[in-house]
Amino acid sequence: MATDRPVKRKRRGSGVAGQGGDGFLRSRTDPRSERRFEPKASVAHVLTWLGMSVAALLAGAGVYGQWFRGEEAGGHPYAPYLLLFAVLLGGASALFGQWSMKPIRVGDAGVAIENAPGEIERIGWNDVTRLLLTDAALTVQGSGTAIAIPLRTHLPAASRVLAEARSRVPAHLTDIKEGALPPPDDAAGEVRPLEPPQVAGLRCKVTDKLIAFEADARLCGRCGELYHKEGVPPRCATCEAPLR
Ligand SMILES: [Zn+2]
Repeated sequence: MATDRPVKRKRRGSGVAGQGGDGFLRSRTDPRSERRFEPKASVAHVLTWLGMSVAALLAGAGVYGQWFRGEEAGGHPYAPYLLLFAVLLGGASALFGQWSMKPIRVGDAGVAIENAPGEIERIGWNDVTRLLLTDAALTVQGSGTAIAIPLRTHLPAASRVLAEARSRVPAHLTDIKEGALPPPDDAAGEVRPLEPPQVAGLRCKVTDKLIAFEADARLCGRCGELYHKEGVPPRCATCEAPLR
């Protein structure tokens, strides 16, 4: 749905980085957004929780039967078996259960996983080195880090990541076939605005010039690569998007 904006969208600073052109160049405060995907609770996940809960109950009963039945009663004969079974079931649930139920975010700032509330691990598109697709997961590899998106609980997010990666950093997923995942569903995921990135103190990708003032920063709107306003190349050094 289109909304009326009183202020016209600003593409660049006051004419510093050349005139005209309508490429992917963005300034730091240009609006950016991403989609947030909650995981879908799967049967395996419910079973994991059930297994862990039953294990905890059995462990409690076992501990009571073994040590807390009073002096004269002594330990219940079944108590050690209950304890052993509880340990086995709990161990199996923890080992084989499905715990990866973290929300995933996809958008202008790359791919992110919410490890804990307020603790977000992010790989910018400009830091992506490779995408890997297996039967179980789509993995986004960055330099020294990776985010695995399980297909069972996060298929809509994985579809979105694959589609965005194909248009933003196509060179990194040449071995994934077209149509390997269903096309992204525009109704899936909650669209959220992104804060402007923290860029002061970082360096221009091309000139290595220090970005001392945030107003000097320019971004590639496609992969998020960072440039000093005086060092913007005609094409993005990372994804080759036309910048001016
Ligand atoms: Zn780029």
